[in-house]
Amino acid sequence: MQNIDHIGIAVKDFKTSIPLFEKLLNTTCYKTEWVESEKVNTAFFKTGETKIELLESATPDGVVAKFIEKKGEGIHHIAFEVKDIQAEMKRLLEEGFVLLNEAPKSGADNKLVCFLHPKGTNGVLVELCQSRV
Ligand code: ZN
Repeated sequence: MQNIDHIGIAVKDFKTSIPLFEKLLNTTCYKTEWVESEKVNTAFFKTGETKIELLESATPDGVVAKFIEKKGEGIHHIAFEVKDIQAEMKRLLEEGFVLLNEAPKSGADNKLVCFLHPKGTNGVLVELCQSRV
């Protein structure tokens, strides 16, 4: 795995959270994007080499809405950049980790992504992402 590409943060409402993170990070949100595969809205901020991804659920029964219901707003996942997502998924499977999807899927920011089940990673939802450029 390579650098941390982004940290995903679950928020209830972009209307309050985008201005809050703009103030906190002293930068502007450079894009918002709907992610069909997860049914969430995402908002991105650059902080050096790493990004912050705010996640807002579009549906009350979506994964982000359920997360907030259980744990409240806060850090949702950590995403690591990988060079070859298929090879990394194979390696992690062989190490006994549980993947939440069998094949890489389309994530935000023009990436191929795969999530690891948090029960095998001390409660941390880990995302692998590979740039599609
Ligand atoms: Zn993410």
